[in-house]
Amino acid sequence: MTGTDASPAGNFIRNIIAEDLKVNKNQGRVVTRFPPEPNGYLHIGHAKSICLNFSIAAENQGGVCHLRFDDTNPSKEDIEYIESIKEDVKWLGFDWGEHLYYASDYFEKLYEYALQLIKAGKAYVCSLTAQEIREYRGTLTEPGKDSPYRTRSVEENLDLFQRMRAGEFADGAHVLRAKIDMASPNLNMRDPALYRILKAVHHRTGDKWCIYPLYDFAHGLSDAIEGITHSICTLEFQDHRPLYDWILDELKTPCHPQQIEFARLNLSYTVMSKRKLQELVQEGNVDGWDDPRMPTISGFRRRGYTAASIRNFCEIIGVAKRDSTVDFALLEHGLREELNKQAPRVMGVLRPLRVVLENYPEDQEEALDCQNNPEDPGMGSRKVPFSRVLYIEQDDFREDPPKKFFRLAPGREVRLRYAYFIKCVGVVKDEQTGEVIELRCTYDPETRGGDSPDGRKVKATLHWVSAAHAVETEVRLYEQLFTKANPTEDEKDGIDFKAYINPHSVERLPSCRLEPSLAEAGPGSRYQFERLGYFCVDPVNSSAGAPVFNRIVSLRDTWAKIQKAQKQNK
Ligand code: ATP
Ligand code: MG
Repeated sequence: MTGTDASPAGNFIRNIIAEDLKVNKNQGRVVTRFPPEPNGYLHIGHAKSICLNFSIAAENQGGVCHLRFDDTNPSKEDIEYIESIKEDVKWLGFDWGEHLYYASDYFEKLYEYALQLIKAGKAYVCSLTAQEIREYRGTLTEPGKDSPYRTRSVEENLDLFQRMRAGEFADGAHVLRAKIDMASPNLNMRDPALYRILKAVHHRTGDKWCIYPLYDFAHGLSDAIEGITHSICTLEFQDHRPLYDWILDELKTPCHPQQIEFARLNLSYTVMSKRKLQELVQEGNVDGWDDPRMPTISGFRRRGYTAASIRNFCEIIGVAKRDSTVDFALLEHGLREELNKQAPRVMGVLRPLRVVLENYPEDQEEALDCQNNPEDPGMGSRKVPFSRVLYIEQDDFREDPPKKFFRLAPGREVRLRYAYFIKCVGVVKDEQTGEVIELRCTYDPETRGGDSPDGRKVKATLHWVSAAHAVETEVRLYEQLFTKANPTEDEKDGIDFKAYINPHSVERLPSCRLEPSLAEAGPGSRYQFERLGYFCVDPVNSSAGAPVFNRIVSLRDTWAKIQKAQKQNK
């Protein structure tokens, strides 16, 4: 499951389609669609749906997948979201070709369909208030009551509906409802609303309309208008399927797509609803929809995730009929495996500690050969400058080393990666704070390249950067956005999910020192900083010659640990 994409695993949806093809249903065509509402940025849950719909189309000869904006609710939608959704789908590696659609393009057709229903006596204009409609609906255990307007004549309904369109009534004065069954055990079938009055300007149709179709009416009909064969959606629509079918049956549409539901993706340590993500953005808990801590596709992209890692993840988690939560560590695991193969190794010091090599000549410098990936000689090597004053990581030195600390300490010798053995011979402290501000060391010129000809061993190898040559820049370390695996778990007790925001989800290190090859690193390029993790040049905050880095993922593989623990418990 690395680098290249995972081969598609069978799942119940693919099985249904394979069976349909066997009997030549839909004349052997497969047409799917991804129908986002443009009311926010896409998240990784949407990626699951995108991967599923576009892959199923691609796997079947002549198959196509439509991108359709379900833009029937002008009050929440925006052009910014449309653009971001297109960009995200493309970045994930999918192409809708000519098949870009907007439900708003069907407003006229949908209106015609509504007239047809009215004429057939299957829809009526109801003038109860929203509150009354709720009261009349009944409950799961009690049947509903017929609206007093249910018996309006076809003529009266046609007249009122046309006047609703003409803008004669205020918002909420009337709705158009399907006439089905107020006693149905399925609440969705108790005369659901199909159209409402909403005097809002639509981002595409302007003020042309002041009535808008509701989701259940617009969605199935849009599917039918486009000739969708398999309308794949998430489980919460299972109870809407009878309504989906009812509308298409009553209207005798040219085709009748099959709705198939699957379980939505939930991911630990994050939230997956656009409304909640929007709240985080609006309240300033994150720096926008593409904040690298967000579970949005744009957030993952900015953080440095590859599109392949997200596609592979969506493939491995599979498609099921039962809701579950996937461990975030699984997503990281696949990404790490991919980056391990692809990302060149470099050296960077996040929390610098100055080291002076007392026996290294002041006017000397040399270029040391460093491999770009020791496990893959094909990735070549680069020259990294070395000189008398270096930086190492503060963590790699202890004045009083505890028992298992094998890195640098007074009197101790360690290896500098691809360079020399050095030995700590002195410590310089800040007179006021007593803090160690510089190490005095000697180096052994015989150990160039990192090995001692006399067979002397050292117990640690440290990364380093030459002070005079270093690129000084900001690096950001990211942790989970929430401290709780399921941040919405306690909503039932009145505890808001934002109570579990991790106050340490980002740490900005303003003066890191990186090897000079990184000065020109372009936006989005990914590296392994040796011993530290995988990092990516932030495309938003970097400028030419001054890259800012985001930590994509640490080197520590928690998923591998989880798997190991599971095996041991067996
Ligand atoms: P949210 O609840 O996050 O706002 P939504 O379902 O309202 O999402 P839409 O724009 O309506 O968002 O979704 C477009 C498509 O993506 C739908 O077919 C929907 O079923 C699917 N989808 C949304 N969230 C998930 C998820 N977590 N896992 C899988 N598919 C999802
Ligand atoms: Mg929705």
